[in-house]
Amino acid sequence: MKRRAWLKYAAGSVLLWAAGCANGKKQASVEKEKAAAAPEAEGVHTEEDEGVRISWIQDNAQERRMPNSLFQGADSALIQKLSPEGGVLASVSCFLVEKEGRRALFDTGVGAADSRLLQGLNALGVSPEAVDYLFLTHFHGDHIGGMMREGRVVFPKAEVYASQKEYDAWMQMPADKNAQVVKTMDAYRERLHLFAFDDVLPGGVKSLDGVGHTPGHTLYQVGNFLVVGDLMHGTALQLTHPEICASYDMDMPRAVKTRKRYLAYARSEGLTLAGMHFPPEGFIALK
Ligand SMILES: [Zn+2]
Repeated sequence: MKRRAWLKYAAGSVLLWAAGCANGKKQASVEKEKAAAAPEAEGVHTEEDEGVRISWIQDNAQERRMPNSLFQGADSALIQKLSPEGGVLASVSCFLVEKEGRRALFDTGVGAADSRLLQGLNALGVSPEAVDYLFLTHFHGDHIGGMMREGRVVFPKAEVYASQKEYDAWMQMPADKNAQVVKTMDAYRERLHLFAFDDVLPGGVKSLDGVGHTPGHTLYQVGNFLVVGDLMHGTALQLTHPEICASYDMDMPRAVKTRKRYLAYARSEGLTLAGMHFPPEGFIALK
């Protein structure tokens, strides 16, 4: 069951992040009532399911399309048929999970002058200082770019989580490829936590092997939501044809396997996908 809800973070919550939430259902119905009176800000959309509240925050200011020329692995006629406008509607997105009084941000967008992540967080009543955890799907610039602004950290209190595999792979790359990663990880060094796939992280967030797009690409499951990072760049093509890859996928055969595996998993479990390049409003429920 999905509930659309929007409300400001309840200040003063004494519930613990790791503890169960016995009042989840009651709270959800109260929030549902409030949601009717509170319109969502532009570029923000919140869903709630079994005590997990997750908000899509669109980082891109202008409409974003992934050009058909970016995709391969299928007949160009099929790609054209599925995407007749020449580009698939997409986004650059981040997700905020609020659970038991703690806030976790999944990826941080580009960090461009017109990036809207901080505006979106503000609309949800969350300051950068109030972000407790940062979970990174991978180290491409459109995912870690928002961690720094003018050479300083944007999230001064966040504990940062990334896969050991992703970290190791990027650290071995030449300087012309990894300069942004090295600088960013160094700035957060004292709060950086590297995990192995399948580790359960704070808040019961489960890390999952999403390798293919990058060497340590990670998916995260939170309740009935699966944060899929860059599992798909063009949902209009790849949901029905997971064999199609964007040229951004660093290991394409592995990316195809990973995509097929998690789409099947999400369908069998009835999960809702949250994707960093999904079209607005960021979620796709699979049943
Ligand atoms: Zn990306």
